[in-house]
Amino acid sequence: MSEVDVTIGQTSHIGGRPMTVKVTRHRDKILSVLREWFRVHKQAPTLEELCVELEMQPRQRATLQRWLQTMRGIDVEWEDNAARSLRLLTTEPEVEPGLQIPVTETLRYLATGLADWEKREPEERSNIPKALRVGMSRMYLTSLLSGSEQAPSNLPEFFEWAKKPVVEWKPATEIKNLSKEVTLIEDGLVSDFALQWQVTGSDVEMQVQEKVLQDVLEYCRVNQLEDAYRALRKLIIERPVLPYPEYRRLLSSTQLRPLRDFLLQIYVDLVDLVSDNTYHFCPRCKYVMRHRRDGSYSCRNMTCEQLSAKLHLPPPTSVSKQEAETWKVVTPGVHRYGTLPGLCEIQLAEALTKMGVRVTLWPEIDEFDLLVEFSKKVRWAIDVKDWSYLDEERLRSVEYRFDTTETFVVFPDDRDSVLRIAVERQRLEPELGGVRLRLVKEILSEAKKILEKKNNA
Ligand SMILES: [Zn+2]
Repeated sequence: MSEVDVTIGQTSHIGGRPMTVKVTRHRDKILSVLREWFRVHKQAPTLEELCVELEMQPRQRATLQRWLQTMRGIDVEWEDNAARSLRLLTTEPEVEPGLQIPVTETLRYLATGLADWEKREPEERSNIPKALRVGMSRMYLTSLLSGSEQAPSNLPEFFEWAKKPVVEWKPATEIKNLSKEVTLIEDGLVSDFALQWQVTGSDVEMQVQEKVLQDVLEYCRVNQLEDAYRALRKLIIERPVLPYPEYRRLLSSTQLRPLRDFLLQIYVDLVDLVSDNTYHFCPRCKYVMRHRRDGSYSCRNMTCEQLSAKLHLPPPTSVSKQEAETWKVVTPGVHRYGTLPGLCEIQLAEALTKMGVRVTLWPEIDEFDLLVEFSKKVRWAIDVKDWSYLDEERLRSVEYRFDTTETFVVFPDDRDSVLRIAVERQRLEPELGGVRLRLVKEILSEAKKILEKKNNA
């Protein structure tokens, strides 16, 4: 995973400075071009095509979009997020509709665009991803419409802005449960918050996962490989870094042999991923850390950094360059979408197992995260969500399991300062069809009560 480099992208400008030219001057021209267009074409033009028709430079698209926005509901109308939906309004509307651009959608565009951009090779970075372009234009428009606020108008300005707390941008304060600290870029990488936000915007079913992890899931479902699936999931969570002999042994083990081809994609050579004289690993997730410019080492994940410091987790043994030649490591994508979210799941499973409860991780090939069985009659289904904000849309997509006695969505205790579960569940649970929200500590104490009752019976 490459770092977000703020020095790249000077060539690409969005918007530029606010236009002082009176918009009305352009209205007639836009209208006549559009009328002409619809005489010839059935479909509406894209913004790019309209730019060409108006003999504007492609880089003036954002300017054109601003002009269109001022004409929206008066002369023209379009659907947000739908290409070629621009149309001419023939009748004058009675009331001028307010210009509204949902802030949540804008942030989704920005997060999606940023994640896309981060994945690109450096030489492709002068092309701004479409989502980022749309997000920036919308952000600019929102600020323009609100009158007072300044929004970043080009890529370098945007990257500066993205390192600051999102709530500093005033329109974002209307979003509930947004922590004051969250930023889109953290320590040079796209933040957890941005990634989570991006997930919401895309297909909730699929989520944004590494392709290989989706492939594994599908393959295991088709071939009913429940044990192999579980073994692989555990492996990438607990052992994101492995010495080669162990890796080899696992590849040919009975359990993992059916998934050998996937393991060959998931693990790469450590020295190919990172080049260093000594390799240091994260005390929390065990993944290889990044060597920072000041000489120190840090995990790519900010939560790891915070928890390692807070809990004084001891660093794992480092490995020399020579020794590292024979080590394997999961790809950064698998680390992000497989290793990190799995840490809480495994921790909760271990804590419950220790209490003497029967726990199955990812039952029925990942129908949910944990099946907790106290007896034949008392069974819990648990989904663990290590979220940096409370995503109501995704919460609503959690299905109540009728084959269990309780369906819980469980959040790590350390996220509660932001998520405020005790408060939020009163508002949310009535709409969740029986699904209940809990913190890890609450789940453990409820489990303890059930066990005590059982033992006294
Ligand atoms: Zn870590």
